[in-house]
Amino acid sequence: MAKIFCIANQKGGVGKTTTAVNLAAGLAGLEQRVLLVDLDPQGNATMGSGVEKAKLKSSVYQVLIGLAAVKDCAQPCESSGYDVLPANRDLAGAEIELVDLDSRELRLKEALAQVANDYDFILIDCPPALSLLTLNGLCAANGVIVPMQCEYFALEGLSDLVNTIKQVHANLNPDLVIIGLLRVMFDPRMTLQQQVSDQLLEHFGDKVFKTIIPRNVRLAEAPSYGLPGVAFDGASRGAKAYLEFGAEMVERIKQM
Ligand code: ATP
Ligand code: MG
Repeated sequence: MAKIFCIANQKGGVGKTTTAVNLAAGLAGLEQRVLLVDLDPQGNATMGSGVEKAKLKSSVYQVLIGLAAVKDCAQPCESSGYDVLPANRDLAGAEIELVDLDSRELRLKEALAQVANDYDFILIDCPPALSLLTLNGLCAANGVIVPMQCEYFALEGLSDLVNTIKQVHANLNPDLVIIGLLRVMFDPRMTLQQQVSDQLLEHFGDKVFKTIIPRNVRLAEAPSYGLPGVAFDGASRGAKAYLEFGAEMVERIKQM
C-alpha cells in the first residue's frame, strides 16, 4: 500500500514544487515506485517532470470530476523513473465544479485508492492556498511535508497551516499527521535565517527534518530543462541535499 504525502504550504514560492519533484526523483532512485500528483493549476510539477502541460489529453482535473481514472492519465517522467498525474489550467475550473459534487473533499482520496497497490509513495504537490484542492490533498494523505523558508513571516503562516491540518485531522482524516518541516532555500550566512531555524527547532523539535536544503541555483535552473534538479545536476549541493532528504524520509516513515 502506498504511503501518501502532501507537500503543502499556503505561502507561494516557498519550494513546494521543487521539493515534490526532487523528492519523487530521489525516491525513484532508491528503487521506490512513485506517483507524483500535480494538484496545482500552474502545472509546475508537470513541466518540471518533463511533461508538456499544453498537450494533455486528460489530467488530474478529469480524475477529480470523475471523467477519468488515475491510471489512464498518469505519464512517465522519462528522466527520473516516476509517474506524474499531470495538471494544467483546466484544474482551476475544478475548484468551482467540485462544489456541487458529492463528497467534494474526498474525490482525490477515492481516485488514488484505485492505484494504492501500484506505488510505494504517492506525493501530492499542492497549490499555494488552503483551497478545496489543497483540502482534497490533505484528505487523501497520511502525512504532510511542509517546506518553508526561514524568514520572519514564515512562522506566522505556519500557524494557519497547522490549524487547518488539525481541523482536517479532527473532522475529515484521522490518519493525517505532520511528517515534518523542511528548511529550504537556506542561506547560513544570513543571521535571521539561522535565528528562525533555531526558533523552529525550539517549537517543533524533531518534527523539523535534519536535512536542510540550501539555496542553490542549479535547482532553480533545472525546471526550464524539464528535469528535476536531481537529474539535471546530481553533483550539485541542492541535488545532494534532496537525495539526503529522500533517505531521511524513508527512515522517518519506518517509524510511522
Ligand atoms: P508556488 O506556491 O507558486 O507553487 P512553490 O512553493 O511550489 O511555488 P517553487 O516553485 O518550488 O515554490 O520555488 C519557487 C522558486 O524558487 C522557483 O523559481 C524555484 O526554482 C526556486 N527554488 C526553489 N528551491 C530553491 C533552492 N533550494 N535554491 C534556489 N532556488 C530555489
Ligand atoms: Mg508550486
